[in-house]
Amino acid sequence: MLTIGAHMSIAGGIARTADNVVKMDANTMQIFSRNPRGSNYRNYEQEEIDAFQETRRRHGFGPLLAHAPYTMNLASGNEKTYEFACMVIREDLARMDALGIENLVFHPGSHTGIGVEAGMEHIARGLNQAVAQTQNITVLLETMSGKGTEIGASFEELKRIREGLRFPEKIGICLDTCHVFAAGYDIVHNLDGVLEEFDRTLGLGLLRAVHLNDSMMPLGSRKDRHAVIGEGEIGLDALLGVLTHPALKNLPFYLETPFDEEGHRKEIAMLREKLGIQ
Ligand code: FE
Ligand code: FE
Ligand code: ZN
Repeated sequence: MLTIGAHMSIAGGIARTADNVVKMDANTMQIFSRNPRGSNYRNYEQEEIDAFQETRRRHGFGPLLAHAPYTMNLASGNEKTYEFACMVIREDLARMDALGIENLVFHPGSHTGIGVEAGMEHIARGLNQAVAQTQNITVLLETMSGKGTEIGASFEELKRIREGLRFPEKIGICLDTCHVFAAGYDIVHNLDGVLEEFDRTLGLGLLRAVHLNDSMMPLGSRKDRHAVIGEGEIGLDALLGVLTHPALKNLPFYLETPFDEEGHRKEIAMLREKLGIQ
């Protein structure tokens, strides 16, 4: 069975979001762990949390994914920015764990001039003060496109971040198809080779989620511009190849394509039809 969903708004509350997943004919979702461009969040009433849990159980949702805000930069050399990032990852891991969300993904960050080594040290330190062994939730490092001073555009860098961690078993990887392609991994002509490299460097067992996006920008462009499935440089066939690859097909897939919920509903229906699977 295919586990697929999209990035969803939680503006109407989390119970409503779960209902919208069902309406979309999806069976998982990604949500922001808090306001993606600010710092505030809402605490849900117990009643709403119960309704959310009930919907997800009744409809057999796969693993759910929370995405940390874009304003969180754990690699930053600026003290205020870094302290803020440490607080956000600590709070949101605890909050999303309490909600029963399986994974929380974040962008490793941009070192903004202090260098890759120092940036990676900050990321490790920030994660070490946030991740508790008692939590069920797994933190996922997202594969990045490598724009600007972004860390995490190579599997090697992601591996090195993990090496600095106290509880590496709590840290997995989320592969974003648009980002890896923009970073120079040719998933169009050599998906097997890319996954072999991933396996050699990190181990395929660490892969917990896939962001399924086409890319407006070409291979190796180091530019992060998502396209609708089939309308970008990766193309429909290569993305169907990702969905059906034996090393990936049992993972949850999350669309982050430039569509609203109705667009994502059609996109999921189209993918199911092409694959001939439910
Ligand atoms: Fe992301
Ligand atoms: Fe992504
Ligand atoms: Zn992106």
